[in-house]
Amino acid sequence: MEQKELVIIGGGPAGLTAAIYGKRAGLDLVVLEKGSFGGQILITSEVENWPGQTMISGTDIGKTFHDHAEHLGCEFRRAEVTGITPGEGAHVVHTSAGDIAAKAVIIATGAAFRRLGCPGEATLTGAGVSYCAVCDGAFFTDEEVAVIGGGNTAVEEACYLTRFASKVYIVHRRNEFRADRVPSERALSNPKIVPVWDSVVESINGTELVEGITVRNVKTGETSDIPLAGVFVFVGTVPQLDFLGDVCRRTDGGWIETDRRLQTSVPGIFAAGDVRDTPLRQVVTAAGDGALAAMSAYHHIVGG
Ligand SMILES: Cc1cc2nc3c(=O)[nH]c(=O)nc-3n(C[C@H](O)[C@H](O)[C@H](O)COP(=O)(O)OP(=O)(O)OC[C@H]3O[C@@H](n4cnc5c(N)ncnc54)[C@H](O)[C@@H]3O)c2cc1C
Repeated sequence: MEQKELVIIGGGPAGLTAAIYGKRAGLDLVVLEKGSFGGQILITSEVENWPGQTMISGTDIGKTFHDHAEHLGCEFRRAEVTGITPGEGAHVVHTSAGDIAAKAVIIATGAAFRRLGCPGEATLTGAGVSYCAVCDGAFFTDEEVAVIGGGNTAVEEACYLTRFASKVYIVHRRNEFRADRVPSERALSNPKIVPVWDSVVESINGTELVEGITVRNVKTGETSDIPLAGVFVFVGTVPQLDFLGDVCRRTDGGWIETDRRLQTSVPGIFAAGDVRDTPLRQVVTAAGDGALAAMSAYHHIVGG
């Protein structure tokens, strides 16, 4: 079986930063990625809170992380991890490209979008229901769309959609956004944005394409129909851990619990970034986690 000192699962900001730190510490490592190196940030247009850059695209962040790790000689492999079997001296990482035995493993598989779960969402995904404004926003030029959610991602992506759409409803279950003050104020002062407060989506309607949504006011119980062509869902995230089973201790929400060195309940298995039980899920925190997890893995491997 192939042997590595460190296997890093996930090639987003956390995994790529772990690779940079691990490689500079001299570890024999590989980064496994099932999709695109760069992670979730690739799908956002403008990032204003990556320190050192007043404005940078998500694609450029992902690319610079990958280029940096590549420059240091890190090994990358496109493979999906399907399971981990913990062991005494080494853990076995099962992948779509074979098994790898590793002295330490860093799980940095990030998060995926939470679904609304309402009627019409699954059947109309790709036919007007989207989870990516950068990917699909331009399809709705001069049309009316809705963003569902009230956090930073929802509010920022709603502002981005006003470049194309004639009107952007933001349907939120409370009467004020959860997003930070700056993006919230920016959205509320945009004449194309119409908040629909205290409301949840009952159904997404349409036969072949989205034709509208039915919303219910959570205070009055009244329902109303809003005709529109697109629905962008940003109602939070869930950890990408289908492969993990009950290997590591997790929170009720499924996020991995770690100690202050980012070690999980299994010695030698670490977690970094969005997949971890953490109060802030951003590029900067994922990168910080990646650095700490790599150095903790290094000390685990060399016995320091
Ligand atoms: C629309 C949007 C806008 C955002 N805007 C900002 C912003 O402005 N500023 C900011 O700081 N953050 C922003 N974020 C959040 C930021 O993208 C995340 O916090 C960050 O990407 C987390 O990095 P990560 O490495 O932990 O996880 P991810 O970026 O999710 O990377 C995890 C990687 O693991 C891979 N993976 C998953 N499962 C497996 C498996 N079984 N096998 C192999 N590989 C696997 C995935 O394909 C993915 O590439 C935004 C996110 C979104 C979606």
